[in-house]
Amino acid sequence: MIQKIKGTFDIMPEEIPTWRFIEETARTVATRYGFDEIRTPTFEATELFRRGVGDTTDVVQKEMYTFLDRGNEGRSITLRPEGTASIARAIIEHGRCSDAMPLKLFYIISCFRCEAPQAGRSREFYQFGTELYGTETPAADATSIAVADALLRELGLPNIKLHINSIGCPECRPNYRAALVEYFSAHEAELCPTCQARLKTNPLRILDCKSPICHKIAEGAPRTLDHLCPACADHHKGLTEALDALGITYEVDTAIVRGLDYYTRTVFEFIAEGIGAQSTVCGGGRYDGLTEQIGGPRLPGIGFAMGITRLIMAMEAAGITVPGKQPPKLYIASLGAAASMKALQLAEALRNDGLYVECDLVGRSLKAQMKYANKIGADYTLILGDNEIETGRAMLRSMKDSAQEEIALEELAEKLK
Ligand code: ATP
Ligand code: MG
Repeated sequence: MIQKIKGTFDIMPEEIPTWRFIEETARTVATRYGFDEIRTPTFEATELFRRGVGDTTDVVQKEMYTFLDRGNEGRSITLRPEGTASIARAIIEHGRCSDAMPLKLFYIISCFRCEAPQAGRSREFYQFGTELYGTETPAADATSIAVADALLRELGLPNIKLHINSIGCPECRPNYRAALVEYFSAHEAELCPTCQARLKTNPLRILDCKSPICHKIAEGAPRTLDHLCPACADHHKGLTEALDALGITYEVDTAIVRGLDYYTRTVFEFIAEGIGAQSTVCGGGRYDGLTEQIGGPRLPGIGFAMGITRLIMAMEAAGITVPGKQPPKLYIASLGAAASMKALQLAEALRNDGLYVECDLVGRSLKAQMKYANKIGADYTLILGDNEIETGRAMLRSMKDSAQEEIALEELAEKLK
């Protein structure tokens, strides 16, 4: 038997209502804030992610699915590991950077990262995310966070904690980086091998290393917020004021640095308790240099991405269930070949009228058809035989209370609506 690839998963029909509920709620909430949906290709030139996500990140160094393009030999392409770089490329490519700002976009996509599969971490996973371009105001950051907050509340998850931080800008980050290197160099021998390498390439990332020893050392590290330039400090203060004004509770958490290179100033995560180690349901931040980094004009932006599997885990932990499939309004049972054809025809007419109707497709006996109708929970059943075809009338039976009434077939749609 051929099995699914390790780290991928099937979403079976009974799970679909939950997925659709999340996707539809996300669309509704994003639309309310003026975000428009965008869809970009599943794969892109590898260079886009190397430059957009950043060469020193785990995503680019270890997690990308990269291969040579059969359609254009020699070109390296990569399955998207995230959405932000692709969308930045798309808006540059379509000349949208000179549109009236802000530009507000959202997406629901699958992403691909070659990581060790575990609960809440797969190799193909799904994200809902937003991008808000063209403004640096703290109000934009607050609006982006408000979308995530509103969605979580609307999903029934109001207790997921928001952690915010500022990691500064190209102006102040070198100072902070130097302070970090100085601090961590004193502990170099104790750091995990990955963090020993990070000390040279990307020391900020040591702050969110998952190894307990690195984590412990990181607790004593210099804090980003103490090294911000006045403009970044103002921006961070502006964000906290806006969140206060919106009544969105948060914790300033200087351990939040985010894994992708493009972030500047604001970074944030929503963290769910009780869903295990993979507890970050949403990660986001500001990326004022991204569009320039991939060859476009400067266009500041802020956004987030939510992992849909982790949202489902949080919903399960909170005991939130989504109503499943609706049962059919009517099951048309039939006796004999002529009636079977008539049932098919009648079902078609009622479906064209917008009703969910089932009839026999398997050639079951009348008794087995009635048993099946009961099993699938049809609201009503109707039995067609030669007599019913001749008179154009049949008995409509309510499965709820067994009440029967004789009805003209052409009045069925009216009655069932
Ligand atoms: P983590 O620290 O958990 O690896 P990340 O920083 O790599 O997360 P982002 O790139 O910010 O994650 O992606 C945003 C969100 O997408 C995460 O908060 C998470 O909910 C989800 N996510 C990321 N990677 C995976 C994965 N491999 N499987 C499932 N969901 C994921
Ligand atoms: Mg990751």
